[in-house]
Amino acid sequence: MNFKYISVASGSSGNCHYVGYKNTGVLVDAGLSGKKIKENLEKFDVNLENVSGILITHEHSDHIKGAGILSRKYDIPIYANEKTFQAMKDKIGDVKEKNIVIFKNNTKFSLNDIQITPFSIHHDAVDPVAFSFDDEKTKISIATDLGYICDNIRKNIYNSKLVVLESNHDVEMLKMGPYPYYLKRRVLSKNGHLSNEDAGKFALELVEKGTQKIFLAHLSRENNFPELAFETVKGILKSKNIDIRKHVELKVLDRNEASNLCIV
Ligand SMILES: [Zn+2]
Ligand SMILES: [Zn+2]
Repeated sequence: MNFKYISVASGSSGNCHYVGYKNTGVLVDAGLSGKKIKENLEKFDVNLENVSGILITHEHSDHIKGAGILSRKYDIPIYANEKTFQAMKDKIGDVKEKNIVIFKNNTKFSLNDIQITPFSIHHDAVDPVAFSFDDEKTKISIATDLGYICDNIRKNIYNSKLVVLESNHDVEMLKMGPYPYYLKRRVLSKNGHLSNEDAGKFALELVEKGTQKIFLAHLSRENNFPELAFETVKGILKSKNIDIRKHVELKVLDRNEASNLCIV
């Protein structure tokens, strides 16, 4: 069997991904309005009635904005770790008791047909995670909001066929840009976001470990643009003779629209 992946939207103002396997579909985050998530999914013929869970990475609003509304309207369970759920519950409104499912970091669980591993990452949230999905043969991973690439990320993501990877900012654009000093420091810190250059360096490791598709995600509106993220990562891969046509498929996810339907 194959995994189906759709980027519902990915950028610093709203994140949501769809992963399907056999008869189960899940969302990773729901950081746009419920209406926008519904519309974007419909472009690829996915109905929210067929979504079995919303997996939450962390409590920042660009990841949870639509979670409560979708849970109430379509009776979808929300999956999060305990600390994240406590940090987000006042922001998402009332959710039925049965639609709150608590998982443990770094412990695989199954949601109907899908095996899910939430793994700890470094970011300025209470207990942030990224997710990988696997069926023993094929693995795909979605990792954004990464302060830096730690060994727990490597352990969990290596050998994924598809990796959705944060490529948040260009360091020079960020330094020269409009953000106040404290925010610049936050983004650049070990609990901030991954730069294009660091995404490129990690992309090198991923290709060596067998990754065939890398989709760059969570681009900052102020401190990045798609061509720059793409060219930076492509350049780093090329410096080690990795050709983005021959060895790996490299793409940038759309910030606002559904994009990059793929089957792996
Ligand atoms: Zn965040
Ligand atoms: Zn974010």
